[in-house]
Amino acid sequence: MSNVHVIDHPLVQHKLTLMRRKEASTNSFRRLLNELAMLMAYEVTRDMATQEVEIETPLETMTAKVIDGKKLVFVSILRAGTGILDGMLSVVPGARVGHIGLYRDPKTLTAVEYYFKMPQNMQDRDVVVVDPMLATGNSAIAAVERLKELHPKSIKFVCLLTCPEGVAALQKAHPDVPIYTAAIDRQLNEHGYILPGLGDAGDRIFGTK
Ligand code: URA
Repeated sequence: MSNVHVIDHPLVQHKLTLMRRKEASTNSFRRLLNELAMLMAYEVTRDMATQEVEIETPLETMTAKVIDGKKLVFVSILRAGTGILDGMLSVVPGARVGHIGLYRDPKTLTAVEYYFKMPQNMQDRDVVVVDPMLATGNSAIAAVERLKELHPKSIKFVCLLTCPEGVAALQKAHPDVPIYTAAIDRQLNEHGYILPGLGDAGDRIFGTK
């Protein structure tokens, strides 16, 4: 599991616990996901390249570091990825955004693509794919496969929650893609849900159930 980063910061763990509770309202679930995504962005961007620029403080001239946010692309797997995307964008507002529409065939649990829109010049960009739940891994694997066709400089995968099955599947298909998560739960059930998990992330973000 060398390429898996469990973000066990107390603030992340606390917010995740609040989100898991079945009585959490749509409003608080969405707000917590937003806050969690900001905290996770901090870890995911830790190795982002910086460059030196010359600036003037009120007292002196100095060289100081800046990041080139435009080189970063957040790729949201629709629809639940939107919940993480919003938080990440509030920390890296200059980032570009791509969307991949995938739905899970309820019978086969395989990923079916219905939308794909990326910024130009992906070969110059670092990609962070976001989806709250890495469950069977099918959507994540399909999304990364499609993105690799565009040859980005790097790809990372960020989720809120995963399980041993999801981690194993994504790592087997794409061992070069690091996984960032707030927790690895016990298991996947026969319907492709993570246990103990937090239920259907999309429904909980958008209040559709
Ligand atoms: N997708 C969800 O929203 N929840 C799960 O538990 C698994 C996949």
